[in-house]
Formats: sequence, structure tokens, C-alpha cells
Amino acid sequence: MHTKRILLLLFAIAISNAFAQQNYDILIRGGRVIDGSGNPWFEADVAINDERIVRIGDLSAATASQVINAAGLVVAPGFIDPHTHALRGIFDVPNAESALLQGVTTLTEGNDGSSPFPVDEHYQAILEKQISPNWSIFVGQGTIRSLVIGQEDRKATPAEMQQMKDMMRQAMEQGALGISTGLFYVPGSFTSTEEVIELSRVAADYGGIYISHMREEAAQLLDSVNETIRIGEEAGIPVQMTHHKVIGVENWGASVESLRLVDEARRRGIDVTIDQYPYTASQTGINALIPQWAQEGETACWSASRARRHEAPSRAKWCRRFSMIEVAAILKTYLSRATPGIRPWPARIWRS
Ligand SMILES: [Zn+2]
Repeated sequence: MHTKRILLLLFAIAISNAFAQQNYDILIRGGRVIDGSGNPWFEADVAINDERIVRIGDLSAATASQVINAAGLVVAPGFIDPHTHALRGIFDVPNAESALLQGVTTLTEGNDGSSPFPVDEHYQAILEKQISPNWSIFVGQGTIRSLVIGQEDRKATPAEMQQMKDMMRQAMEQGALGISTGLFYVPGSFTSTEEVIELSRVAADYGGIYISHMREEAAQLLDSVNETIRIGEEAGIPVQMTHHKVIGVENWGASVESLRLVDEARRRGIDVTIDQYPYTASQTGINALIPQWAQEGETACWSASRARRHEAPSRAKWCRRFSMIEVAAILKTYLSRATPGIRPWPARIWRS
């Protein structure tokens, strides 16, 4: 038995040496390999033949038609961008060079609580377009709530809750990655934590992830971080605090505390992760500057959807004019502030 094992080992070493001395198409030398399995990086050479990785290890004896020196650089199969709005462009630019040339090979969509629905129709359209990057979507809690409740600032009835859970189940069965929320935006801002937890449990049943543009990223950032962690804990779902940041000069430094909360939650066994912008600025739609009460319900001018405009064009026209006057006034206040970065009106009542 023992001899057999030694022979096997010798055989393996022999094969290994044969590979190591082989001539490859491409050799990427000395990079820090991050293989995507969750392991820490390790230094290794990567050999490629016929556009496939055929070997990773110490290949110092090998040769190749093309040798790339990757010393000090990261070698990875591709990065995942977990927060994109690439849907706006992917059908016009299916090669997505802006992502691929940065090494991003997987894009996710459906962030901030807003996604295509139903999911399978969307995947079908993506398949037919034959796009270059890998693609996956989260199903938007805001999208589902809008379809069931509209832009109403109220609790869901038990029947509506059931309907939303059924839609979540359907989306997960059709291949959604998980649930996304934009609790900062209408109608996410009209949604209680408990409602999010209930929907997230459905996503958790299918191994989904909860990704959130949190309720508030300025003065109430820490409340938002705690809410996000609570959702992960009570729904039993991995959570991703997306584009984690601290808005407003007066709040700078709060990340020391927010990251401590994340670390503590992880120590308690909650799977919390974050991503962040690769730049110091942040941007969003102009409706983020409009008070949420002005975006509520059927009478909301700002939220007049395309569909509603189609239904009542004269009212919608009035609405648009009204909105622009509102926006101009709000922008004036906003821009006159000494420390831009937060909304020019008091923070909205925190919802439990
Ligand atoms: Zn966002």
C-alpha cells in the first residue's frame, strides 16, 4: 500500500515536471493569482493553450510563444462588478468594452431595488443579444412593490404581501441572483424593515443574496448599516451593502464606526460584505433631491411614470412643468449650501 502511494506520487511529480517544461502558447509569469475560490492570493505562473488555462504553478522551466511578465500584478479570471446599471447600454453596446477592458467579466443588474420583471423574459432578450460579459440580475423589491402597491406610502396588506412573495419566488426560480433594495428611493423608502425581511426570506430559500442601496447614507448611515445587518440576520441571507459611502462633509469619518459594525456582524456569523466606488464622488438621479412626499401616490407629479403619462397626457404635462419648478427651487437651495452632499430638507422619519 505504502509503495503504491510513493509510486503514485513519483508519477504525479513526473507528469508535473513534464508540464512545467512544456511549451505553451502564453505564459503569465510571477503574478499574484486570485483564483476566485475565496482563497488568499498566491504567487504563480499561469499557462494558456488554445485560449484555455492549462496549468497554474511554478512553471519556471517552461517556455511559451508569448511571455507576459506579471510581477507585482494581479492575475484573475475576471472581476465581478456587483453594482451596475449596464442595462441602459448593454443592448446598444453588447460587447461592453468599458467593463471588459478593465478586467470586469461579470456584470450584475437590477440594483437599487429596480429590475426588469419578469426575469425570464429579460434573460431571453440578453441571450438573443449574445452579449460579451457574463450577466446576472437581482430582482428589485421596488419593482415588485410598484407592480403590486404602486407608489403608495403605506403598509402592504397580507394579500399584497403574499403576492409580492409569489413574485419573488417566481423571479428566483427564473434565475435571479437575489433581491435588491433601494430603500433610499421611492417606493423602497415606503417599505418597512419587516416587509424587506419577509421578502428576503423567500430569496434566502433559493440561496439568494440581499444587496442594498441603504435607506440613508448621510446623517443616519449607522442606522442604515444596523438595518441592513438585521435584515441579513433575521432573513438568514448573505447581505451586500452596496456602494458603501458616507455622504456629507459633516459625516465624514463615520465609516470607522460603520466598518466596525460590519466586522462585528461578521464575527457573529452574519455574511455581510460591502463594495464601494473606485472614485470619491457619488451620483444618482435628480429625483433623489425631491422630497419623498412629492413622489408619493397617484397624485405624485414627479413620479408620473411613462405609462401614466400615456394615460393622461394633459395632466402629465402639467406635472412635468410643476416638477421642473420644484426641481429648480430645490436645486437652488441645495447648491447654496456650504457643505453639499446631503438633502436640503430634514431627514425623513425613520421607519422601523
Ligand atoms: Zn445605488
